[in-house]
Amino acid sequence: CGIVGYIGQNDTKDVLLNGLEKLEYRGYDSAGIAMLNDNGMNLFKVKGRIAALRGRVDETVESTMGIGHTRWATHGVPSATNAHPHQSTTGRFTLVHNGVIENFQDLKRDYLGDVSFISETDTEVIVQLIEKNFNKYQDTAEAFRQTISLLKGSYAIGLIDKEDQDTIYVAKNKSPLLIGLGDGFNVIASDAMATLKETDQYLEIYDQEVVLVNRSFVEVQKLNGTVVDRKPFTAQIDV
Ligand code: GLU
Repeated sequence: CGIVGYIGQNDTKDVLLNGLEKLEYRGYDSAGIAMLNDNGMNLFKVKGRIAALRGRVDETVESTMGIGHTRWATHGVPSATNAHPHQSTTGRFTLVHNGVIENFQDLKRDYLGDVSFISETDTEVIVQLIEKNFNKYQDTAEAFRQTISLLKGSYAIGLIDKEDQDTIYVAKNKSPLLIGLGDGFNVIASDAMATLKETDQYLEIYDQEVVLVNRSFVEVQKLNGTVVDRKPFTAQIDV
């Protein structure tokens, strides 16, 4: 029930794991992180506590971008397989999601009849649909916007394309998600508390917007691709 992401110059492991710990108060039954580097996507998932995830993560993996998730199961039992991040069939796309996709059965039936699903989650439909749309549009931002346009329900989403080490794709509807702005890095978080150690400058994003988060810039867009201007605010939380 929480999301953290980092894209910057330094190793992402600690930002993700420490951030997820700060989100533990929201409740969860499983957790996972995905970190991209030149060797590919490094994925670690467990049923249980962040402490168990720490034990599972390969300390030698170095990466300057990644996404992390704590799951509170709504569709599918708590298990390592159903834990996020979830991946598309080819492994190109990796995604975390908080919330509930109300029309996931319809989307599965209408667009994904030929896909074999690995998990029991509503979430996997999103990442499989992104791959489907990528095959159609050959553009990740477009595939992301087209997919988000089809979703009904609540979601905070972070997506990584294995072929692009410079972007985390973000979207939200009725579930919280903020973008934290740093110098040479940016973060995403369900709650600024998770990343206050990194920055106190945050961008609010509104429902039905998508955001491209790069190391040096953040671009907020509407679902039709129009760029939106957004000014940061200073987070004031006692820690
Ligand atoms: N509905 C998703 C699942 O069951 C996400 C749950 C959450 O918000 O953690 O996997």
